[in-house]
Amino acid sequence: MYVIEMTSEPAVAGDRDTVGGRPILETEQSWPDCTCGRRMALFFQIDVPADVPHFGGEHLLVFQCPIHNDAAFGPRRLPERYWETPLGGNETAFWRILRHRGGVVAASPDDIIQPLRLALRPSGPDDEWDFRVGGHPAWIQEPEDHICACGADLEFLAQIPENLGFPKRPEAPEQIDTFDFDAYGLCLGNMAYLFACPRRCDAAAAWPINQH
Ligand SMILES: [Zn+2]
Ligand SMILES: [Zn+2]
Repeated sequence: MYVIEMTSEPAVAGDRDTVGGRPILETEQSWPDCTCGRRMALFFQIDVPADVPHFGGEHLLVFQCPIHNDAAFGPRRLPERYWETPLGGNETAFWRILRHRGGVVAASPDDIIQPLRLALRPSGPDDEWDFRVGGHPAWIQEPEDHICACGADLEFLAQIPENLGFPKRPEAPEQIDTFDFDAYGLCLGNMAYLFACPRRCDAAAAWPINQH
């Protein structure tokens, strides 16, 4: 497994491991919109290292609506197209997790999150609670699992620790229900365990399990 570290180096067009910046998408894949119609903010994207089980070699992108900020709740057996269906009392489908093997750099950068480079390094036993990709989830509560609409068991891909702030651009508005006025958080700052479909039934077939 690998720890994902935020650096203070500005991200430039074509960088593949970033917070904010220009998303790298698959051919004919569009920048995701929330069901409210707003373009989602790019929180981060990384190339998943080749030795991560199930997902090595994929490009992972994590987006959330700039104004919708909530925890994700859903049934264990997820319904058809769960990534674009508001579930569990959520008002909107406000997050999107994409994986693919394409390489189209978006024409413009994200306008909410400060574009910075990320650095990945192999993790050790002390990094269990860090922002990381691969390995096993460090559960705060009881372990949870979900079954994709296609029938596959979702597999662990990455975790985002509690109250991890993704620095915002100075000109961007403060996030609604934030824990940090200079940053945006995913899913209200809950711990987020990203699980994804190993069958790749859709580029967006993934789910953020939230705990706190
Ligand atoms: Zn929205
Ligand atoms: Zn699936």
